[in-house]
Amino acid sequence: MNLMYKSTRDSGNRVLASQAVLQGLSADGGLFVPENIPVLEKSMDELSGLDYRELAYEVMKLYLTDYTEDELKDCIKKAYDDKFDTPEIAPLIKIGQAYYLELFHGATIAFKDMALSVLPHLLTTAAKKNNVQEEIVILTATSGDTGKAALAGFADVEGTKIIVFYPKDGVSSIQEKQMVTQRGMNTEVIGILGNFDDAQTGVKAMFNNRELADKMKKAGYLFSSANSINIGRLVPQIVYYVHSYIDLYRKKQVLEGEKVNFVVPTGNFGNILAAYYAKNMGIPIGKLICASNENKVLFDFFETGRYDKNREFVLTDSPSMDILVSSNLERLIYHIADCDSQKTAELMQALTSKGVYEITESMKANLEDFVGGWATSKETAEAISRVYTESGYVIDTHTAVAVSVYHRYVESTGDKANTVIVSTASPYKFAKSVLHAVHPGLEVSEDDYEQANVLSKISETKIPEAVEEIRFAPVLHKKVCDTDKMQATVEDILKII
Ligand SMILES: *Cc1c(COP(=O)(O)O)cnc(C)c1O
Repeated sequence: MNLMYKSTRDSGNRVLASQAVLQGLSADGGLFVPENIPVLEKSMDELSGLDYRELAYEVMKLYLTDYTEDELKDCIKKAYDDKFDTPEIAPLIKIGQAYYLELFHGATIAFKDMALSVLPHLLTTAAKKNNVQEEIVILTATSGDTGKAALAGFADVEGTKIIVFYPKDGVSSIQEKQMVTQRGMNTEVIGILGNFDDAQTGVKAMFNNRELADKMKKAGYLFSSANSINIGRLVPQIVYYVHSYIDLYRKKQVLEGEKVNFVVPTGNFGNILAAYYAKNMGIPIGKLICASNENKVLFDFFETGRYDKNREFVLTDSPSMDILVSSNLERLIYHIADCDSQKTAELMQALTSKGVYEITESMKANLEDFVGGWATSKETAEAISRVYTESGYVIDTHTAVAVSVYHRYVESTGDKANTVIVSTASPYKFAKSVLHAVHPGLEVSEDDYEQANVLSKISETKIPEAVEEIRFAPVLHKKVCDTDKMQATVEDILKII
């Protein structure tokens, strides 16, 4: 029996996993959710013997049931290989009282690699299974991290092209360099003379343009998206939650059934939602602690049951969490509404039209797994400094938001459960903010590589390959366009008229 996926906004809309991966978003605007959350089949002791890839297969096969064993194993093998700079893929490290789950050992040194290294293979396999003849064109707008991770994932993957738009003056210099030096015959990177919203709006307009879709089809192309609402990104993220728990069990840090808390630095709510799925699959997880920066729309939601995006957007030192509409929260809303798609559609409609919605008391009661917390930029810097002073371990700004929230949570509740802090980026990716936090008095060079050198010295860690490789890499992408020329640029690249 295949596990079917339904839209959060219309339960009549049912598709197979591979079709959900291909479509990304349901036509009614909803997100695909599995009809039921599967339960792990093997015991803790059996799972303990598996490496990351084998465990990935055990978890993913329960969700992607229409992929054959060979297909799925092949996707996993191509993804979790020496693109990661550690054989453990997602190592768990004890520092002080807490465990840090390092999700930044992939090609772009941020956690997006965990899913974006396998998504291209899931997508091309899905295309084959569903007899899609067209070449798949991935269109992405990025504010920095997603673009590079998607480029790295799709580079030279047969049957695909990837086109990334980024705001020319709106990303960090490391982020820009990472993108414009991207190799691969099928990659295109374009700077737009506008901000991230302009890039996003332009990409959405192309997705919704029927005429363009027809022209594309005639030329043998099909648009698809790699953004975080695709279940092909959610499912691979469940794996590392299961993996980290098994790791604790294997090392006898927890007894069978003993609960562990997870603290997750959150933006679009994709990462922490995967933890919620892991919990519902049978992993003994206690609290899911959702950590926000000053854009604390989720904290307010967990406090009050009211989601309100009508507020000032704050630029922080943890930019990948600067977000006011957390798209993946829609899936949680659906689950806590006991899978009522009509109710979910109604609330999402209110979010679009008024920017606000409020959940019912009974939905609120279903949120007991979650705790919200938030940290200011100052508290974030203090957390980096405190961890470094106490242990010599250097964390990035996003992880530091989680650490700050964790400390406050333990102080106020006295909860003594083992806790895993989900570490979403390498400190090298945000070296300047990190150095300022560790040595507030220090004059920090503006040069990215000089910053990396200093960070390497103080943390006694090697500069990651992802930083080294762009130091002298040639710029391969120089296209720049106005915001109203995005479609023309795509048509030009694909040679369609
Ligand atoms: C994307 C990202 C996040 C937020 O993850 P969500 O799944 O969007 O909640 C946190 N930290 C880093 C470094 C990221 O790149």
